[in-house]
Amino acid sequence: MAFYPQEQDQLREEIFAEVTRLADEKGGFFTFQELLNFELNGVRIPLVSQRGINNPQIFDATLSVVSAADGPYDDHVGPNGLLRYKFESGDPRAGSNRKLLVAMTTKTPIILFERPMTNVYVPFVGAYVIDADYDQEFVTIAVDRTMSKMFDVAESEIERRYVTAEVQRRVHQPVFRARVISAYQRKCAICRLAHVELLDAAHIISDKHDDGLAIVPNGLSLCKIHHAAYDRNLLGIDPNFVVHIDEELLIEIDGPMLQHGLKDMHLSTMNVPSQNNLKPDRDRLAQRFELFMA
Ligand SMILES: [Zn+2]
Repeated sequence: MAFYPQEQDQLREEIFAEVTRLADEKGGFFTFQELLNFELNGVRIPLVSQRGINNPQIFDATLSVVSAADGPYDDHVGPNGLLRYKFESGDPRAGSNRKLLVAMTTKTPIILFERPMTNVYVPFVGAYVIDADYDQEFVTIAVDRTMSKMFDVAESEIERRYVTAEVQRRVHQPVFRARVISAYQRKCAICRLAHVELLDAAHIISDKHDDGLAIVPNGLSLCKIHHAAYDRNLLGIDPNFVVHIDEELLIEIDGPMLQHGLKDMHLSTMNVPSQNNLKPDRDRLAQRFELFMA
């Protein structure tokens, strides 16, 4: 039985707040188990189902969807940069699809989970289903209200490019972070600090650069201090994964952060993912290391 509309809205809002809070605590992503066993005030409300679309009975509109690059459905990004989400097979207006269309017509926000790799779910809380294509059987999803408004007005080429760049920033950045941090087992590659709320996904080659792709081999999971030191070339990493500390810092005498956090890391070997395709790219490290040596 669905709840009364007002109760539904309030519950949805509470779920959104809790997912946002938890995501922050967990470094911006969840596992399938965590989403399946999600609880609010002691009541279990699964945020995922075995299907892509999750429609708890208490809601008239879809609560959440999972979009996976390797998923069971053919999800992808449309020419306007916004996500296209395939209807579940069968009648686009029936079955699980029906509540997805209710979310669209009633402008009810949902949670979009991007699954960029196995068991990594990155939440976009307050996403909107903004359009449906019944012939090609997909809906268009905007990650937030601003994006959904931009979609309405993005008529010219320059506006479309702007929307695409925004999607890039709002979607790819959190997904990149989740991929990198999970590839490094939620630890800093240099000091092994395991507090996800203090970890960043650093780019080896900056994303302002053409080679600065948001892919794991161009990323490093670093704590805030090591990230900042790397960005400012106070710390370098050579292509053999060996950490180097700036010469001037090495002769400086100061408190424990400088001593243990930085100087003691000199010539230590960084921890990298065991899987070859997730290891930092040696060519990119070499290119970046030149900047440190300069
Ligand atoms: Zn660190």
